Amino acid sequence: MKYDYLMIHYGELSTKGNNRKQFIQALLHNVRVALKPFEVVCKGDHDHIYVYLGDKKVEPIAERLQDVSGIQKISLVAKSEKDIETLKANACELLDLERGKTFKVEVKRTDKAYPLDSHGIAVALGDAILDHRPDLSVDVHEPDILLKAQVRKEGAYLSCHEVPGIGGYPMGMNGKVTMLLSGGIDSPVAAYSLMRRGIKVECLHFAAPPYTSEAVIDKLKDLLKALNLYQNDIKLEIVPFTELQLDIYKYVPEPYCITIMRRMMLRIAEGVARKNGCLAIATGESIGQVASQTLASVQTINAVTSFPILRPLCCSDKLQIISVAEKIGTFDISIRPYEDCCTIFKPKKPKTKPRIDECEEYEAKWDWRSQVARCIEQTKKIYLSEGEEVFSKVETERKDEE
Ligand code: ATP
Ligand code: MG
Repeated sequence: MKYDYLMIHYGELSTKGNNRKQFIQALLHNVRVALKPFEVVCKGDHDHIYVYLGDKKVEPIAERLQDVSGIQKISLVAKSEKDIETLKANACELLDLERGKTFKVEVKRTDKAYPLDSHGIAVALGDAILDHRPDLSVDVHEPDILLKAQVRKEGAYLSCHEVPGIGGYPMGMNGKVTMLLSGGIDSPVAAYSLMRRGIKVECLHFAAPPYTSEAVIDKLKDLLKALNLYQNDIKLEIVPFTELQLDIYKYVPEPYCITIMRRMMLRIAEGVARKNGCLAIATGESIGQVASQTLASVQTINAVTSFPILRPLCCSDKLQIISVAEKIGTFDISIRPYEDCCTIFKPKKPKTKPRIDECEEYEAKWDWRSQVARCIEQTKKIYLSEGEEVFSKVETERKDEE
């Protein structure tokens, strides 16, 4: 007896009723893309996706699947004939591959025509194992070995090993958003949270050269390479923000600069989002973290748009955010020193309760509309696919599609 497949258990998509078929197809596609380097065959049905292992090493494949959204867990399974005598013999053989002193059998029977019910199957398998291995005993609370048996129409599956997936929805199933990506810790984590929910992320960064350095772009590319594990290809657009930002500092009193800069960022983000067919804007803001993220600030900044704004981290605290950043491999990149357009022009005393009418009064002092339009028009685009920059390739493909 040897393990034949990895069995992928669907995450929340199992609750999705009519959309189920579409969800399964999307997940199957994403699994195939993720496992392309391993050259394995993947098939899906109503309940699971199966990855045929052949003689491939299981650990790296399982590890890769742990980063694919929409997967609740992955189990290593052996397929067996489902008649009870063969099932008993195979269960015993499988247990011989495992180490431990205690075991438990759990059974799920979806084949309702099977002569034994779940409990009957569990008792039969448990007794057979005890006869075969007198050195083992049953422990239903903390067994060393947990044998799971699924009896289905087409056969039975036996498993002693499973690992958790990241859950959520398959990538791309929930539309796409324009994500404001700085080089900090929070926004990549926010991007990851969205990706886990099956939302495709397109990133937008505001750069103010020569006040911000070119190095930040390399940093953003490294961040996106880490995030490519969760979303196969990601677009990054860079907004040339210098001119508008210098005008903000020319016309607006210092305590209001950050608020007005953020209002401009949102106006530009809305324009880019609409141009790209994105359904919302997202940020890495967390309520109360800094002056521009108090509720009063958020309200004044948000007042420039009726476009939906997602703030996936709004209630997370910094330590939680850092622990996710470490898990997804963005933390070490994020803490590399860099100059953000927000930090460079940081006012000494930013307003924590900025007022909308005051913002409008300062904004009446110059023609920022044409600058905003130019920023939307003149973004520079970079594409990252599977950790590689593929700008020209994707541009050409897009043109071909049109
Ligand atoms: P982060 O760690 O994501 O930089 P932060 O705690 O430093 O967040 P801020 O600098 O106040 O917070 O930025 C809040 C949010 O605004 C960021 O999470 C990001 O979504 C957006 N943002 C800030 N600066 C930029 C930028 N230069 N380009 C794009 N988005 C930005
Ligand atoms: Mg920042």
